[in-house]
Amino acid sequence: MSATPCQLDTLIKSETTHIQICRDCDEVHLHMGPISLRLSRDHYQRLASDISQGLYRLEIPKLSTEMIHGTRPGTFHS
Ligand SMILES: [Zn+2]
Repeated sequence: MSATPCQLDTLIKSETTHIQICRDCDEVHLHMGPISLRLSRDHYQRLASDISQGLYRLEIPKLSTEMIHGTRPGTFHS
């Protein structure tokens, strides 16, 4: 562990999260309210991928409903 504090650059800051990278130790600092995580860059990338896939699966039923009931490019024969 380095004795010097991390030099953090903000990657994104929103209402829900603040994500920073330390260019020195190459760790990602993820802050969500009272929770803070320090992840390796690789772990962070895999977590981000998992979150994206989870979100996709969560939203599929909603997207399917919108495709059925929303605007659609073609019409069926009537
Ligand atoms: Zn650091």
